[in-house]
Amino acid sequence: MKNIYSNIYSFNKIVLKKTVETLKQGNLVGLPTETVYGLAGNAYSKKAVKKIFRLKARPKKNPLIVHYFSLKEARKDVIFNDEFLKLYKRLCPGPLTFVLMKKRKSKISPLVTANLNSVAIRFPKHKIVRSIIKSLNFPIAMPSANISSRLSPVTAEDVYEEFKNKLTTIINGGKAKIGIESTVIDLTEKPKILRPGIISANEIKNFLKTNLSKKKNKIKSPGMLKKHYSPGIPLVMGKKPKKSSHAYIVFGKKFKNRRNYFNLSKKGHLKEAAANLYKIMRKIKNKGYKKIFVSKIPNQGVGIAINDRLKRASR
Ligand code: AMP
Ligand code: MG
Repeated sequence: MKNIYSNIYSFNKIVLKKTVETLKQGNLVGLPTETVYGLAGNAYSKKAVKKIFRLKARPKKNPLIVHYFSLKEARKDVIFNDEFLKLYKRLCPGPLTFVLMKKRKSKISPLVTANLNSVAIRFPKHKIVRSIIKSLNFPIAMPSANISSRLSPVTAEDVYEEFKNKLTTIINGGKAKIGIESTVIDLTEKPKILRPGIISANEIKNFLKTNLSKKKNKIKSPGMLKKHYSPGIPLVMGKKPKKSSHAYIVFGKKFKNRRNYFNLSKKGHLKEAAANLYKIMRKIKNKGYKKIFVSKIPNQGVGIAINDRLKRASR
């Protein structure tokens, strides 16, 4: 596909070099990952991290996820434990974020963690982001590449729509395969899911062979803003629209093809539905619909993550 935007680049060796230079200078780049597109900056640089918060208009109390190539680099900044190593072996690189204790001598900017003594880390799988972090001698802080509280971007063009020319480099890595943000698990005490994702609580429970904590703990995840993933128009769950100026997000084969109907997955596959969720919400908004209604989506497996995002978007 030809890029019509001057700040969206197809990936090659020259662009890799330029991206690495940009990050080394403390500037930001938009990068593809398997979950959603990210806004990346040097996690060791106060200047770079400040730019991330500023560009996203992100509240300072909402900590960022730090992305690494492998265990070797992460070991410098965080204290590993058995549960982490077990899950890493099975599921990384991939769409799973771990909250662990930060090492005292870590160089991660305190802005990244909102001054907490814990830090969230991930090992992304997308080969473009992997080749970039492999070429750096610092990890990258990388939240989703959208204005705070809005929809996460799943294509390079979505990133452009968010920041226009305020972001000089966006790497085009095609549509994000998973389409929703990583599962976040806190491993600083009894393992607890802080944010559901494509990797389910059950899967994690089976690997760890222990039950997960269900305790509500606000302080643990200060950034889980109630209103989030918002398409910018009202969204109502579990109801059908009465007007054709209202869009209807549906799931499964029992729904007809209508102009204002948008099917997350005709086959009724929850993973496919997750991959289409933000793309469809963005499309509905851009088509000028005034309100979104959503049919019932099974609250199991990946459906839990989809309903979590929809619930936050509806607030
Ligand atoms: P985002 O950057 O939008 O993908 O969000 C990352 C989420 O990870 C934040 O909203 C936090 O809730 C969570 N998180 C990041 N760092 C920490 C941490 N040190 N302790 C607890 N939760 C964290
Ligand atoms: Mg985000």
